[in-house]
Amino acid sequence: MSTEVTKPANFIRHIIEADLKSGKHQSVQTRFPPEPNGFLHVGHAKSICINFGFAQDYNGQCNLRFDDTNPAKEESAYAKAIAEDVKWLGFEWSGEVRHAADYFDKLYAYAEELIQKDLAYVDELTAEEVKAYRGNLTQPGKNSPYRDRSIEENLDLFRRMKAGEFDDGAKILRAKIDMASPNMNMRDPAIYRIKRQHHIRTGDKWCIYPTYDFTHCISDALEGVTHSLCTLEFEDHRPLYDWVLDNITIDCHPQQIEFSRLNLEHTITSKRKLNQLVTDGLVKGWDDPRMPTISGMRRRGFTPFAIRDFVMRTGVTKKVHTVEMSVLENSVREDLGDNAPRAMAVLNPLKVTLTNYPEGKIEELNAPNHPQNEAMGQRTLYMSKTIYIDQDDFRESANKKYKRLVLGKAVRLRNSYVITCDKVIKDNDDNIIELVCTYDEKTLGKNPEDYKPKGVIHWVSETHSKPATVRLYDRLFNIPNPGSAEDFLSTLNPESLIVLSNARVEMSLANAKPEDTFQFEREGYFCADRFEHSSDNLVFNRTVTLRDSWAKIEAQDK
Ligand code: ATP
Ligand code: MG
Repeated sequence: MSTEVTKPANFIRHIIEADLKSGKHQSVQTRFPPEPNGFLHVGHAKSICINFGFAQDYNGQCNLRFDDTNPAKEESAYAKAIAEDVKWLGFEWSGEVRHAADYFDKLYAYAEELIQKDLAYVDELTAEEVKAYRGNLTQPGKNSPYRDRSIEENLDLFRRMKAGEFDDGAKILRAKIDMASPNMNMRDPAIYRIKRQHHIRTGDKWCIYPTYDFTHCISDALEGVTHSLCTLEFEDHRPLYDWVLDNITIDCHPQQIEFSRLNLEHTITSKRKLNQLVTDGLVKGWDDPRMPTISGMRRRGFTPFAIRDFVMRTGVTKKVHTVEMSVLENSVREDLGDNAPRAMAVLNPLKVTLTNYPEGKIEELNAPNHPQNEAMGQRTLYMSKTIYIDQDDFRESANKKYKRLVLGKAVRLRNSYVITCDKVIKDNDDNIIELVCTYDEKTLGKNPEDYKPKGVIHWVSETHSKPATVRLYDRLFNIPNPGSAEDFLSTLNPESLIVLSNARVEMSLANAKPEDTFQFEREGYFCADRFEHSSDNLVFNRTVTLRDSWAKIEAQDK
């Protein structure tokens, strides 16, 4: 197996190394803080690799913390899937899984501390008024008429908010910062709202909930986070992150560092839009192999190594960019090219009868599991009188470029003999239904002396092959940037899934376990479906196509 992802230098690594060198920190503590409101996607994989990866590189720790401050949207099924994804990617969090909700009591106490310091107040402007008072990027905001309440009054009102005396939305607790700040986030941001909502973890204990900005920095500090790594959209929130921690009694002040999000062409990295694909039934669930979710990529056959490798190749910078899908696919190909055993599968079978092959004879032929890696061993192929080749690998007539089987010409069967096509049998509608061929018994592992076969094709024997369903997956969207389309659903690729239900696969694949990956020679990389594949019902998903199957395979068979 591939072992280590490269560790390129980047600005976050520089900061961490400088902090360790100067003694600012003795060790590294990071966290990955997903909101459990959907499945994780490839963008989150980047955040996971960065947070867990840096902790790992410097013998530090990374926490998994669910940012569950928004009770309406969260579901425990998502939390479970997220934890599974993190583990599958190859990371371990430190200690128990944490939840922002675990800190609700402490957060409440810190809010009271801000009130005591006259740094927070209870406002009762309506939501529209709050918005109007806030001003905009060119105009400063105005102070709320409730801004100058006494500390005692604020404390009393906040406690009564907590006790459930007021209606949802009737009052909010705001930090008292600066309504004229050029940074809108500093214009007295809300830190607590009244919301009568059941919370998965705290039940009905609370009817007030802290905002993300107030919760996140304090949760980080309570966990002793040294470097709070997040995406660029939080850059403008950093002054607030620092303001809160500077104004409460807490002895840890993590450094927030922002990096650019991972955007991938031909896909979408927004949980809201992914959710829409699922709820509208446009894909078969969050883990549909076409989805850019971690569980979708897993089901598609992408490996944790390939995903980690891809993410690190895209770099850790502040530059906003969109990565081509081929970069991800290449990481997958490279890993599977090295590690996936080879096998033969005929996706659209065409029957071939070898007239001169003895009736009832079965010959066992050895084939390497990997042409470049002997350690991966060998498998047995079974030669018989009736075999199948792919419909695409035969033409009645063809030009010189067509290096497969042609009527009257010869071709090599991969790991087996050279055959020549003598006759084509058709049905009443002129469809080719069978080929009548002869095999050359002197050509096992040897080239014929007096003629030259045109190319090498794959095959399976009729007696020693199994029926299988093969699902060919392609890009989910037709355009590079579906997220920017007015209606992203109109850019779905109608051919993102083609199901072939008559495929036949070589005998060795009958033992494939769910999630095993293979290179089906000349066809691409495939994996046994994680949920639907079993020994009685073989189901393979195409992970990614082969780049250049031809040149290589021919060289090997000579
Ligand atoms: P979405 O926009 O898909 O809903 P989110 O940012 O709201 O994503 P969170 O659950 O809050 O999702 O994300 C957890 C962490 O993953 C955050 O620190 C966030 O910055 C990071 N993250 C989310 N999307 C990406 C991305 N495309 N690239 C890198 N990191 C990301
Ligand atoms: Mg978020």
